[in-house]
Amino acid sequence: SQRKNGDADVVSPSELSPGILDLHSLDTELLSDMPVPGLHNGIPSQLAQSRNFDDLEPSFATSRLMNGHRGLPENNLLKSFSLDKEKGSSVAKIKVVVRKRPLNKKEISKKEEDIITIEPNSNFLTVHETKLKVDLTEYVEKHEFAFDAVLDEKVSNDEVYRETVEPIVPTIFQRTKATCFAYGQTGSGKTYTMQPLPLKASQDILTLMHHAYRSQGFQLFFSFFEIYGGKLFDLLNDRRKLCMREDGKQQVCIVGLQEFRVSNVETIRELIEKGNSSRSTGTTGANEESSRSHAILQLAIKRSVDGSESKPARIVGKLSFIDLAGSERGADTTDNDKQTRMEGAEINKSLLALKECIRALDNDQVHIPFRGSKLTEVLRDSFVGDSRTVMISCVSPNSGSCEHTLNTLRYADRVKSLSKGNNSKK
Ligand code: ADP
Ligand code: MG
Repeated sequence: SQRKNGDADVVSPSELSPGILDLHSLDTELLSDMPVPGLHNGIPSQLAQSRNFDDLEPSFATSRLMNGHRGLPENNLLKSFSLDKEKGSSVAKIKVVVRKRPLNKKEISKKEEDIITIEPNSNFLTVHETKLKVDLTEYVEKHEFAFDAVLDEKVSNDEVYRETVEPIVPTIFQRTKATCFAYGQTGSGKTYTMQPLPLKASQDILTLMHHAYRSQGFQLFFSFFEIYGGKLFDLLNDRRKLCMREDGKQQVCIVGLQEFRVSNVETIRELIEKGNSSRSTGTTGANEESSRSHAILQLAIKRSVDGSESKPARIVGKLSFIDLAGSERGADTTDNDKQTRMEGAEINKSLLALKECIRALDNDQVHIPFRGSKLTEVLRDSFVGDSRTVMISCVSPNSGSCEHTLNTLRYADRVKSLSKGNNSKK
């Protein structure tokens, strides 16, 4: 139920107790030994009691899970939910996925070539870069990359969801903080890729809340803000400027950020639309400026300590979607306009810091260098404790974007280059 500011359902941090004020923190101490009723090792008791759960056919598992309810969306949600009995440990901590968009009309009319080839059903991708020899004859240099998944131009948004976010949805009921980033140059498909994901995820979250986790006091909260030029703006509250504070426990909180408690997909759809229409647009009228901002949409699962509706709820887990600023904007550091230069420097700093934070996570480093930028400071709680990160790197296929495409792929490769079992080759 969406309500306006001041109504009971809107959790305005300033109105709440200090514990709730830091809505970006997870009080692990408090929650760590808090039993979740009806759960045994993270699965509902009726499943835990089923002796051969592993041997159950998915359809049977589904009907058991839902206590006879039908009409669950056809997806892998429950499959991943069953994996979740080991606290989601089977879901990779960091996953790097590349998505290639089709050539657009303009590129086709300019007779630009598609320079990216992807072997069907493989996780390999090759960029064919045309270069000139000293005698000015052309030759093609091949750059080969491997990622956790490589999605070609025929892959639908539904399939992107299944590959990226769907497996991590159940983990957020298990006190995990999960983050999904879209990285890439402006026009590579970040927003196209990112936009449908939170809605699909909310659908799955609500399904779990209403069925598998029925009557256990879980609540879903929605917030949407933007980082522009190092400053925070609430996209659901007339772009109100927000500030970030650190409390005595070094927990980060965003003061004034509006959170909406949501219980149906329609409301979520409206909030997403409202937030998107509030994203920064340039004075020129073009959507140009949104490429200089990071949009952060968060779905938080909360639960009151005893599971009752009347008590204030605390964060259990969180799923964040981040439509990053255009990666090429980080290079705007020599622009004539001072404002543009400063924004470029901030974007550059945030993308570099983000990479370092994810790498630190991947290496199980104790020290996470989140202090490098506003973006990583805001996401601090997503980098500590039990976390999952999905990086979707978007690339344009046209020859004119070759340099940006290679930069994006190298960034993606660096994010995960040290991970165990990563078989990236170049
Ligand atoms: P970005 O957010 O990275 O700047 P957009 O998501 O706005 O890029 O995409 C640029 C254009 O390309 C948009 O018109 C979008 O609809 C189109 N586009 C992007 N990815 C795809 C895709 N996979 N299939 C079809 N069209 C796409
Ligand atoms: Mg965009």
